[in-house]
Amino acid sequence: MSIFSAKYLLRFDDISPFMNWNIWNLIEELLDSNNIKPIVAIVPRCKDPNIMFTNDVDEEYFWSRVRKWEKKGWTIALHGYTHVYTTKNAGIVGLNNFSEFAGIPENEQINKIKSALDIFSSYNCQKPKVWIAPAHSFDFNTLKALRVNGFRSVSDTFTLLPYNYYGLFWVPQQLWRFRKLPFGLWTVCLHHNKWTQEDIKSLHKNIKKYNNKILDFNKIEEYYKDRKLGIGDHVFKIFYKSIYYFKNLIL
Ligand SMILES: [Zn+2]
Repeated sequence: MSIFSAKYLLRFDDISPFMNWNIWNLIEELLDSNNIKPIVAIVPRCKDPNIMFTNDVDEEYFWSRVRKWEKKGWTIALHGYTHVYTTKNAGIVGLNNFSEFAGIPENEQINKIKSALDIFSSYNCQKPKVWIAPAHSFDFNTLKALRVNGFRSVSDTFTLLPYNYYGLFWVPQQLWRFRKLPFGLWTVCLHHNKWTQEDIKSLHKNIKKYNNKILDFNKIEEYYKDRKLGIGDHVFKIFYKSIYYFKNLIL
């Protein structure tokens, strides 16, 4: 994998039984017809009204879809437990001053993550492979709780390439839409729940444009699994975080 050519990973957040299914079905068709395997960030016990878009909920059906995604080789991620923000703690990444996890004692976090995983196993789903904190907010107790619960990978932070740190494999997430970039590994995080047909068209256009540069998580892990966090990563993180605040202009 050449460092001199940018690669992309697609991530869809706020996936739950309450999501916008009409739009989702169109997205899934597009992904399948282009053989793209994204990360799907699942909220197993969604209680956050901001990401609930239907009352017509069939839990069994939702989890049967999760099992299909697993079979297709998609990467299943755990995106919190309820997605409800209960603290005003920004945690390690420091993007948002609210969290479902950061600031909560370690034992409570261990139990919360365990309860989330129990839901997956109660529907015969595999253990999700990746952790994605709601609002990017988590702290070192979250990382400990993840390790206790057998997690190995996190999708978050602003580096140019994936790395290992604190006993976990980190794949950075830096974009919220496609951007043409010269090098690096870029996770594009998409929130489909409020999408219109126009957004579907734009996704279609971008998939056509970037398709040969879109990789799946397993391939990235295979390639970068031994890469250590270096000084260059720290420098890039600081630089990128400083431009993040102008993201509407730049990112
Ligand atoms: Zn979310």
